[in-house]
Amino acid sequence: MKEYILQVNDLCKKYGSAVALDHVSLSVPTGSIYGLIGENGAGKTTLFRILAGLSHQTSGVVALADAKTEAEIIRQRRNIGFMIETPALYPNLSVLENLYLVQMQYSGKKDVESAKKTLELTGLLEQGRKKAKHLSLGMKQRLALTTALLHNPEMLILDEPVNGLDPMGIAALRKLILKLNTERHITIMISSHILNELEQVATHYGFLHNGRMLKEISASDIPQSAGSLEQYYEKILEDGQ
Ligand code: ATP
Repeated sequence: MKEYILQVNDLCKKYGSAVALDHVSLSVPTGSIYGLIGENGAGKTTLFRILAGLSHQTSGVVALADAKTEAEIIRQRRNIGFMIETPALYPNLSVLENLYLVQMQYSGKKDVESAKKTLELTGLLEQGRKKAKHLSLGMKQRLALTTALLHNPEMLILDEPVNGLDPMGIAALRKLILKLNTERHITIMISSHILNELEQVATHYGFLHNGRMLKEISASDIPQSAGSLEQYYEKILEDGQ
């Protein structure tokens, strides 16, 4: 097994003259839950969009598992499930029909059994016949996660998945993330502003600030004396100024 499932080297992204990512390097260990932390505008979504192939870097290298060339990266990207920004759902189709459409895009055929199994995993099976537009926000997030999981990816990339969820929804998502990681051995990269939530699941962290990676560290290497993750984050920011 490869030590790192995903590595980014010296990645830069400019929008005109504005720098969104400034020579970012990071390594996501295989099997980890990697928390990407950064303030609004730090560059988290920009990074995830590049990883998903929705945007292209200005310079720098993305390496997914062993893939380095563009063709290999495209192939390897299929081993990742992405949940980035607002999920694109068809509001007038049912939950199951939305999943069938995603399956068709991926493999050209629908697989009822697999769709139902994945819904069971994410706790949405009972809502299978409900129209997407009638789902609560938390259920929509779950459906987006279900679509990301449909093709049995080795890695999940989740951009602010707890956004808008109530405390019960957040706790349920936390359990699901831990289950996917421990039982299914899915590596998970997740961005969140809720540090005390991230602290309960993440094994590794990357601290992004103004488009720069200030520090990467494993949870176990954060000194006890640092206090909470929030306190540690504040210190990293102070040191990085
Ligand atoms: P948030 O936590 O608010 O989602 P983020 O860390 O995801 O923030 P990004 O959305 O990646 O941050 O934005 C990084 C920077 O790039 C910001 O300054 C943003 O304004 C800028 N940016 C992002 N997308 C574009 C775009 N399409 N055109 C111009 N600037 C952009």
